[in-house]
Amino acid sequence: MGWLKRLLASSWLPHAGLLAAALAWLAAGKPAPPSVARVLVHSGVELTLLLGGSLALLALLYQRANTALQALVIVAAYLWVAFGPALTEISTQAAAASAALLVPPNLLALALLDERGLLSPAGILRLLILGGQGAAVAALAYGLPQAVYGITQASFLPPLLSAWTALPEQALVLVPLAAAALLVIAWLELTPLVFGAFSALLTTTAGLDLTGPPQQAAMTTTALVLLALLSLLLATLQEAYRLAFRDGLTGLPNRRALDALLARLGGRYAIAMMDVDHFKGFNDTYGHEVGDQVLKRVARFVERAGGGGQPFRYGGEEFAIVFPGQGAEAVKGHLEALRAAVAEAPFRVRGAQRPKDDQKGERQRGSGDAKSVQITISIGVAAPQERGTPASEVIEAADQALYRAKRGGRNRLAT
Ligand code: GH3
Ligand code: MG
Ligand code: MG
Repeated sequence: MGWLKRLLASSWLPHAGLLAAALAWLAAGKPAPPSVARVLVHSGVELTLLLGGSLALLALLYQRANTALQALVIVAAYLWVAFGPALTEISTQAAAASAALLVPPNLLALALLDERGLLSPAGILRLLILGGQGAAVAALAYGLPQAVYGITQASFLPPLLSAWTALPEQALVLVPLAAAALLVIAWLELTPLVFGAFSALLTTTAGLDLTGPPQQAAMTTTALVLLALLSLLLATLQEAYRLAFRDGLTGLPNRRALDALLARLGGRYAIAMMDVDHFKGFNDTYGHEVGDQVLKRVARFVERAGGGGQPFRYGGEEFAIVFPGQGAEAVKGHLEALRAAVAEAPFRVRGAQRPKDDQKGERQRGSGDAKSVQITISIGVAAPQERGTPASEVIEAADQALYRAKRGGRNRLAT
């Protein structure tokens, strides 16, 4: 059931919903209801610019230049299909096909690249590369339309694999690869922006597959491009939420999230406060960076405490677990198991006098220089004395209990 809970809590779900909406549109295969069709046909460009522009502004506000550039890629592809053919010598089909070749690698690259400011040298270089691609396609379409046809109609796949779609065959290879790469990244680090990129990649490319009557195809392009932009907008909002309520080092919900939970908590609950023992000394001996590793490691234990407990990084080297609907006695077993698990897990660190010079460190590493140190935590737990006891008092009581655990010799649980 753990994986189910993780899936429900993850930011995947809304993106899966948007993908399902895109699929539903494609599968319906019949004209949209007149009210929807009217909006898509008459206001497609305005809607795309509005949504794309809002997304780009929001992304820039949250220091996500890469997401803003992804919005630019999608909007530019849309405008190219809408206006390119009238201004150059190629058909709408060829315009869509050329866009389908450029959108996937660019969306993928922007999802992979490190975040830099838009106006940093790296950001400006990215803008120039994107602009250069646009200019190159437009110039080819204007001066050498045959080249565009030649590239987009290249045939190297068996008809079985390519006959079902108007997308260029290169895109049929590129898109699954790019989508798979994004899935792998999403698996490694569950960040909403990767889901957004995944969903936007698939919907935009599907929208560039122009089949059927021209008006219906144009509507499909607009509908799917809007869904793609919506996916990125949603991802940006999810990321903003994550930044506000998650701790950057450990990935656990932060103090602000704890305060929000405490404000709506009523009835029975228990709160455990825990603190890493002698952490200052540990930092002094091994350095702040190794200290950070320890905090990450302890956080992984804290979030697996069980008993329905919700984990938080309270601040510094202190963590909290809130157990809604439970009394202090009922959760002691889980907390004791947590304490023991942390104490028993060996933590390997390199020696205190490790060489500054990396190469020398490399040589020494295998030579028994790494040693195992014991990390322990002390825990205090408390529950409201009576109905209506303010949560701040319960925290205070858990803190007092923690203090007793420390005084009693550390690496222990106190109530
Ligand atoms: P005690 O057993 O009584 O808890 O002793 P202690 O040394 O753990 O207690 P103290 O509160 O004096 O030290 C806490 C230390 O935690 C001080 C600070 O340098 C360190 N610390 C707080 N936040 C971080 C962090 O994010 N990363 C690292 N590496 N250290 C941190
Ligand atoms: Mg402390
Ligand atoms: Mg401490």
